[in-house]
Amino acid sequence: MGATSQLDLISPEALLNLLEGSEIGVWVWDIDQNINHINDQWARMIGYTRAELEPLTYAGFHALVHPSDFPQLENVLKGKIAGDTTNFEHYFRMQHKNGCWVWIRARGEVLKRGIQKALLLGGIHIDVTELKSETELERRTAQKLDTILTASPAVSYQISAAPPYAVQYLAPNLEAVTGIKRSNLENEGGWHQLVHNSDLQRVDREFSQWLASTDDRVLTRRYRIKQADESYLWVEDRMQRITSPDGAVFIVGSLLNVDELVENNRLFENIADIAPGVIYQFEKRPDGSTCFPYASLKLKDIYGVYPNQVKTNADKVFEVIHPEDFALVQSSIESSERELAEWRCEYRVQLNDREQWVQGHAIPQRLPNGGTLWNGLIVNIDRLKKAELDWERSRARLERAQKTARIGHWEANLDTGTVFWSDIIYDIFGFDAKATIPSVDLFRSCVHPDDLNAVDQSHVNAKSTGVHDIQHRIIRPDGEVRWVHEIAHYSFGGLLVGTVQDITRTKELEFELRKLSTTDSLTEISNRRHFLTIGEQAIERAKRHGTPLALVTFDIDFFKTVNDNYGHAVGDTTLIKLTREVRKHLRSIDLFARIGGEEFAVLLEDTDLRQSMEVAEKLRKHIERIEFGNARGEVFHITCSFGVTSMHGKEPLSTLMHRADQALYKAKGGGRNKVCV
Ligand code: GH3
Ligand code: MG
Ligand code: MG
Repeated sequence: MGATSQLDLISPEALLNLLEGSEIGVWVWDIDQNINHINDQWARMIGYTRAELEPLTYAGFHALVHPSDFPQLENVLKGKIAGDTTNFEHYFRMQHKNGCWVWIRARGEVLKRGIQKALLLGGIHIDVTELKSETELERRTAQKLDTILTASPAVSYQISAAPPYAVQYLAPNLEAVTGIKRSNLENEGGWHQLVHNSDLQRVDREFSQWLASTDDRVLTRRYRIKQADESYLWVEDRMQRITSPDGAVFIVGSLLNVDELVENNRLFENIADIAPGVIYQFEKRPDGSTCFPYASLKLKDIYGVYPNQVKTNADKVFEVIHPEDFALVQSSIESSERELAEWRCEYRVQLNDREQWVQGHAIPQRLPNGGTLWNGLIVNIDRLKKAELDWERSRARLERAQKTARIGHWEANLDTGTVFWSDIIYDIFGFDAKATIPSVDLFRSCVHPDDLNAVDQSHVNAKSTGVHDIQHRIIRPDGEVRWVHEIAHYSFGGLLVGTVQDITRTKELEFELRKLSTTDSLTEISNRRHFLTIGEQAIERAKRHGTPLALVTFDIDFFKTVNDNYGHAVGDTTLIKLTREVRKHLRSIDLFARIGGEEFAVLLEDTDLRQSMEVAEKLRKHIERIEFGNARGEVFHITCSFGVTSMHGKEPLSTLMHRADQALYKAKGGGRNKVCV
């Protein structure tokens, strides 16, 4: 503008009237008076009438401008007032009466300047909402696209489809993804110079073959490309030819950083080399045929074939599977395929008459064509399996042996109360293995109440000695009492591991033997040997406590005649009846023994001579009244002669016996059926 001097003559109102009726909003700001003069169009642009807005102060104008746009607008206005001579064109938003924001293009100039400052600032406003929102949209879309491209792991590009294949577009993420500078790639022959020497020939060949082909398949190449720092990076370069509607042909492509992938692949191959078995992919096609798309070299060790030999047909692998295991392998594959469940199978492979156990483990996935692909590992477990079978065999042997010996094995955690029982234990304890959960509590409830203390004590002792070894009784649910022998040792983790043997039969034998060794088989009272052993102990006790002790011996009078008159058998029953009758007249603590053919002894503890004589006299009188008889009903009586003595000082049992014998002899001599001291 520059015609400031002419405008001096025109009042702001006159200027506005001049422009009234135009499609342009006009404003003149009287800075001194702080009044903004506007025309009707200015007010209309934001949905008002002039009357509604006048008088419009600077603050009133401020209130109409979008808060985000105002600071910048104010700067521009202030600059103009201060003398900025550049063209003032500015975009900002004002609020329409209906609440919407209207984009305004504003131009302005100082219209009149005083000595010190600008007096009038004037300008025009044009509603550019439509225009503005379109450019805004474009800007946003482009921005969004940029963001997407920058975040993308692939670098998109477009090149011409004819030599020299000039770069037409290159996404901004090139450097971020590949570490290659844009300028290096856009240079003449730039791309060629960046490809690794070892890859260049192949990459070129693949490209020209693809160009020559007529189909529209995607070309995928992997090669190394030099980065700005001179190091190489593996990329995957995918290209596709595009024909635009106007017939132009060009190539769009994407570069993907596959360095990690290739590195992983190499790593994988290394792992495959040292893996304990063959790493493989096994595919079952929809038509039922099978193949190994990938298998590591170890395939040869296990199946005797190279990966290449089964790449399209897996038959050679199945041919060497042991005939007895073939059905198992087949059915396990089928169920894994059906349920998409992981496949696990142990089977034998027969190679050159050698049989090897292998174990397979694979994870299936369904292919888009309906087939199934497994990724898996097959390991040679021959040594392991044979050891396991050996163990299984010896375990079975042990089980059989234990069953015969009625020995079971168990494990108990005394802290948690958990218990394992082998089958035979359920049998010994009289429980149903299927319906019983063994526990320390269950075990204790079976222990005979008289033995429970000893068992508990043994468990406690085992914690310090490491050994639990005890024989005790159990009461089965059916009431039967059994003897068991438990031997256990403390093992890792506070586990008590041991065996339990049913020793009921042994115990019974033992009791019988013990009884046999201590009792007289005919009369079932103590025998002479037992009498001497127990008698010695009683004498020791009496000496220790200073208590009296007496001995009574007796012998049947003329017993020979009983045998002679009625026979030996009647003699025997006479002996049996006699002992029973005598027993009745003794205290349970009195030791009664048969010390000779028809000669008996009674050891009376806590009994003095006078008391023992009374006992002997009582027995003598009782015996002569007993009626003995034979099968024919003949009745007879017998009498006995008694010798009585008591303990004096420190004399042994033999002295006592000798003295009693002498007294007995005296009684015989004195006419029999007598008690002598
Ligand atoms: P006494 O003692 O009064 O002098 O006369 P006695 O007839 O009892 O004589 P003695 O003690 O010498 O004889 C013991 C007899 O007891 C000899 C034997 O035939 C008989 N006798 C010993 N042991 C048994 C036995 O187990 N069964 C039977 N039936 N008789 C026995
Ligand atoms: Mg006799
Ligand atoms: Mg005798």
